[in-house]
Amino acid sequence: MAMGTLSRVVRLSSCISRSRRLIFNSTQRRGIASCIDPSHGLSDEQKEFQKMAFDFAAHEMSPHMAEWDEKEIFPVETMRKAAQLGFGGIYVQPEVGGSGLSRLDTSVIFEALSTGCVSTTAYISIHNMCNWMIDTFGNTEQREKFCPELCTMDKFASYCLTEPGSGSDAASLLTTAKLEGDHYILNGSKAFISGGGDTDVYIVMCRTGGKGPKGISCVVVEKDTPGLSFGKKEKKVGWNSQPTRAVILEDCHVPVTNRLGQEGQGFNIAMRGLNGGRINIGFENTTNAQVSATFLHWVYLPAASCSLGAAHACVQLARDHLLVRKQFGEALSNNQFLQFKLAEMATKLVASRLLLREAAVALQESRSDAVSLCSMAKLFVTDECFNICNQALQMHGGYGYLKDYAVQQFVRDIRVHQILEGTNEVMRMIIARSLLSESG
Ligand SMILES: Cc1cc2nc3c(=O)[nH]c(=O)nc-3n(C[C@H](O)[C@H](O)[C@H](O)COP(=O)(O)OP(=O)(O)OC[C@H]3O[C@@H](n4cnc5c(N)ncnc54)[C@H](O)[C@@H]3O)c2cc1C
Repeated sequence: MAMGTLSRVVRLSSCISRSRRLIFNSTQRRGIASCIDPSHGLSDEQKEFQKMAFDFAAHEMSPHMAEWDEKEIFPVETMRKAAQLGFGGIYVQPEVGGSGLSRLDTSVIFEALSTGCVSTTAYISIHNMCNWMIDTFGNTEQREKFCPELCTMDKFASYCLTEPGSGSDAASLLTTAKLEGDHYILNGSKAFISGGGDTDVYIVMCRTGGKGPKGISCVVVEKDTPGLSFGKKEKKVGWNSQPTRAVILEDCHVPVTNRLGQEGQGFNIAMRGLNGGRINIGFENTTNAQVSATFLHWVYLPAASCSLGAAHACVQLARDHLLVRKQFGEALSNNQFLQFKLAEMATKLVASRLLLREAAVALQESRSDAVSLCSMAKLFVTDECFNICNQALQMHGGYGYLKDYAVQQFVRDIRVHQILEGTNEVMRMIIARSLLSESG
């Protein structure tokens, strides 16, 4: 952990007097039961910034999450406050303004922030990944130009891979980048871009060469570039505190100096990102689908971490509701069926957390099982945490279906984590291929 960050964390956390236990809102004032306490197994430093993130979630996010959802507000100022705590570049290097933390640290922070607002945290996670891509694969000029303002969140970033005709099969993308002098001329469109239209920096995957992954490059497109425009704001089930739009590129002139890495390295960059920069899984011998799947892999852990935070909040909301709601003359918490359900939810929550943290360590250490383990974590955590939140809603009965109760928003916000950043079907493909390709 960077010393600057640590001192910032300690300074900040000493200013915050309220306990981490007050993580959600005024309806949830009981402490965290020891058996699901997310600080178990963490170092003292990790506990410090986890506490800081929980406090930020409780005080700066949770009171507003319903309004941000209802009015579709992109909470720019709140995110800038988060950036003041080092959350704009959590795993970006300190030389360019980042916090220099590990993947596990990052997962712990996203889990905690999500208890206050999944949608906003999910956008912060995408922003962090874009920032990290520039920090890791950019040259000195690019890093110095973009990263500091992304770390402070004076500027915001979007990640542009998906196209109308290429989702799971991302390596079939069609957006072209033709070299003319010292510029690329980009043409094509990107679909479902988080932050699209409201952000300043777009990391665009585009085709500079022939078919397949080796023909793909990665360029940074700045917002005011002529030829860059946006589609209408999509109406969504959840993730409403962040806009989603198509990004349209029509004869968009981008300086060659904005390319990250070499031409044709787009997928290499992605895989290096996926593997923490060192493991080579050799995409030359893989199919398009495999490559596409791995390309999306670098974002798995944030999506899973956000699901985990939501599930953590929902287990507590469900427990609190069971303790106060009376039916048939007694508290719902006296009903053994509901007790068993709650016990299962807590067990799956802790199992999800353990798997996710193990995957984060594997990624950080570039272990040979990192790809499979991250796929397993993304699949298991996002599926199980959705089930936990949905069960929590069920335990609230009709109240759970009302927008006055936070549980419905957690359910709506984390549903998409089973779809994006590599669908959970694609995760199964990666895991199965890993199992079947290795002879015993
Ligand atoms: C709210 C939201 C935000 C997003 N943000 C971004 C963003 O910021 N940047 C970005 O680049 N993209 C973003 N996406 C896009 C997201 O990554 C894609 O939606 C996702 O990759 C799936 O692609 P698709 O929607 O085209 O589905 P498809 O690929 O058409 O898949 C449809 C279904 O078929 C299944 N399927 C496909 N192929 C196979 C197969 N071979 N075997 C088994 N099942 C298969 C899929 O799992 C899925 O269930 C976002 C999407 C949403 C909804």
